[in-house]
This record gives sequence, C-alpha cells and structure tokens, in this order.
Amino acid sequence: ERARGLLRFITCGSVDDGKSTLLGRLLYDAGMVPDDQLAALERDSRKLHAEAGAALDFALLTDGLDAEREQGITIDVAWRYFHTERRSFIVADCPGHEQYTRNMATGASNADLAVVLVDARKGLLPQTRRHTYICSLLGIRQVVLAVNKMDLVGCDATVYRGITEAYRELAQTLGITKVDCLPVIAPGGDNVGARSERLSWYQGPTLLELLEVADAAPARAEDFRMPVQWVNRPDQSFRGYAGTICGGRVSRGDEVLVQPGVQRARIDRIVTASGDLESASEGQAVTLCFDRELDASRGDVVADALRPVPVADQFACHVVWLGDNALLPNRTYWLKIGARTVNARVMSIKHKVDVNTQAKLAARHLSLNEVGYCTVGLDEAIAFEPYATNRTLGGFILIDRQSNATVACGMIDFALTRSANVH
Ligand code: GDP
Repeated sequence: ERARGLLRFITCGSVDDGKSTLLGRLLYDAGMVPDDQLAALERDSRKLHAEAGAALDFALLTDGLDAEREQGITIDVAWRYFHTERRSFIVADCPGHEQYTRNMATGASNADLAVVLVDARKGLLPQTRRHTYICSLLGIRQVVLAVNKMDLVGCDATVYRGITEAYRELAQTLGITKVDCLPVIAPGGDNVGARSERLSWYQGPTLLELLEVADAAPARAEDFRMPVQWVNRPDQSFRGYAGTICGGRVSRGDEVLVQPGVQRARIDRIVTASGDLESASEGQAVTLCFDRELDASRGDVVADALRPVPVADQFACHVVWLGDNALLPNRTYWLKIGARTVNARVMSIKHKVDVNTQAKLAARHLSLNEVGYCTVGLDEAIAFEPYATNRTLGGFILIDRQSNATVACGMIDFALTRSANVH
C-alpha cells in the first residue's frame, strides 16, 4: 500500500457531543499517550469522578490534564500531532464554546477533512448544518459523520440510519462530495480504534481506519505557482527567491512570470537544503534562481508564464467575520494574502448568509461569526487565485490596523477588475 501523506483534519460538534472525549480516545488508541500521562489521566479521572472504579475520562487528554490546566493557557486552536504506523495526522482542536465559529474557521482553513460529531439522542441540530456549511465554505470536501453516544440509544441501528440518511442529504446540498458515516461510543472506544461488539451491525471501517485512508486532497491548482517568502541574496553572486510551491510543478528551463508585474524569466536553478533539483512540485520548499536579473520581492507570485494567475485590485469574496466589533464597509484594514500585506476596504456587502439556513439576507454590516459575500478593493493590484482553485493564493485574513487583531478570514471568488499591466 502506498504511503499516505499527512492528513489535516478538524472535529466539529456542539457542546457536550463528545469532541474532547473522542479526540482523547483517538490519541489513546493511536498509542500516543505515554505512561506518565496515562498515570496522570488515571489520577485525574479518579479525582473528578469520585465514584469507585470510574473509567478513564479521555476528555482530560484534550481538555488538559491538571498540570496544563493550572498554567491557565488559553489558546483558540490547538494543533495536535499524532501518528499511527500508517500515517501522520494533525488535528485542529477547537475549544471555546462561545467563539466556536471563529475557532472553527481558523482550524478548518487548512484542513483536508472534517469529523462532524452528532449526539445520537439529539440527531441533526442547527449547529450540525452550520458547521458543515462553514467546512464547505472553507474548502473541505470530505466529512466523516461520527454518530456518538450510541450506548444512550440502546445501540439501535435504526436511529443511526435515520441520522446518517438525513446528513447525507444535507451534505450534498452544501457541496460536500464525500461522506463516510459510522456509529461510535467515544469513552469505550467503540469503532474509534477498534471494532465494537455492541455495534456489531456496523461492518464498516473504524474512525482511525477511515482517517488512515482518506485523501489529503483539497482543491489544488495544477499550474505552477509559488509565493515569494523572502529574497535570498547573501552576496552579489547569488540571488534566489525562496518559498513553498503552492500549485503544480516547476522544472529547470521553465518560463515563469513574476506577478503582479510582467517580468518573465527562465528557471536556472532549483536549490534546496539537500542540493539542486531538476524539478519540484507542490508542497516543496525551494529557492528558485532565474536566468536573468529581475526585480522581485517578498509577496510576489512566481507563476507558469503561459497560465499566470489573475492580477486585480478588486475582487468578490466570502468573508467570515471574526472581530468583536462589526465589519464596517469603507473602513481600511490590512489584508494579508500569502506573503503580501496590502491596505483593503470592503466596498460593499452584497448579502449576508444565514449560517443555519444558507438564506441570503440584506446587510449593512457583519457581526461576530457572520458570513457575508462582499466586494473588496485594495490600494494596489495583487496576484491571487480563486480559493476554490488554490487555498494559499485565494485565502486571506483582515487585520484591524488599530488593535492588530485578526478580524476576518476570506475566500476569494473572482477578480472584479483586471489591472492594465497584465499582458
Ligand atoms: P465536548 O463538549 O464535545 O468536548 O464533549 P465531551 O467530550 O466533554 O463530552 C461531554 C460528556 O459526554 C462527557 O460527560 C462525556 O463523558 C460524555 N460522553 C461523550 N461521549 C459519550 C458516549 O459515547 N457515551 C456516553 N454515554 N457518554 C459520552
């Protein structure tokens, strides 16, 4: 079996659906809980659940054992790394019930897959729809629906089927193309890392197995693109442009365009820490040297000369508002996209999207956790790509210039103007 790349995923669910317990159990079943932590888990589980012979409280692994909790660390999104023999994973653990949408948007923007949790007793809730919509908005195309707490509905297969049928229908309307469902009991680990006797009517893979074989494949650009992270110029004899390729592949001799400008060059060398390469592809960090001197700087995009990216100073986009103060059209924010920061204004809010029903509503402003479809104007043209094609070149954040806080994340739909300097 071919080796699978790293999988990034997020878990979504309402309060008390069992996210922490499921994630803790997943870490435990993957063998990621070392002995000393296991001892702490046993001790803390006993302390919290006084009844004799209390089982391990796996939520403590994710919500933090005493030692961590006492430090009072508050983080919005914790990225947890774990691995099995077959694959490595990074999971965005998004606590904070108040600001769940905000945290979720942060976690989902990088994820290949979402594990959506549903409490079997409650079935689909408005939150289930909202979380699935936000996943879809952020480019996640595959979901694992974990119907949890099956023990509390007598492990009844008909309850499970009703929920999964309704969910498949819902996911389809939101553009989620791949849905896998499974019944779980998080504390017992049933269908988490091992098959369940109580749920023997379910014959499919466990959660861990599903994650091990899932595609790490969000929409990706096929044409070569690399944002310049920094210009490497140690002395007069060497000038290289360093960055991570975010689409396609590049080979020595290829003709490229340095955007948003119109300078062309051929690739002379592809330099890496472990020597020069003949070609390199998406995900690789490289330093490119050109066959001629040109003027490129941090934030520029090196792209396939025949299929360059759009360059414009206005675009239409979805915005998820994350700021405590409402989004005000015509106020200037910093917009950060790839390695570039420019001044930006939201020119108009075309509509806001009710995150629970996806209805389009008129709006003058966007409040915390609201989603709007907007037009944005920049004070200079930039090179970018629709988010659906390229998350790196199509995703941006807005930063408040007074408080320095991140107040929005955005997904570009299409360019509204085409700057005159392109071809
Ligand atoms: P979160 O708020 O989504 O992180 O939920 P937690 O993981 O903290 O779980 C909430 C409560 O539900 C805890 O008391 C868990 O022990 C309990 N719980 C979670 N999963 C299950 C399950 O499958 N069956 C039962 N009976 N209880 C569960």
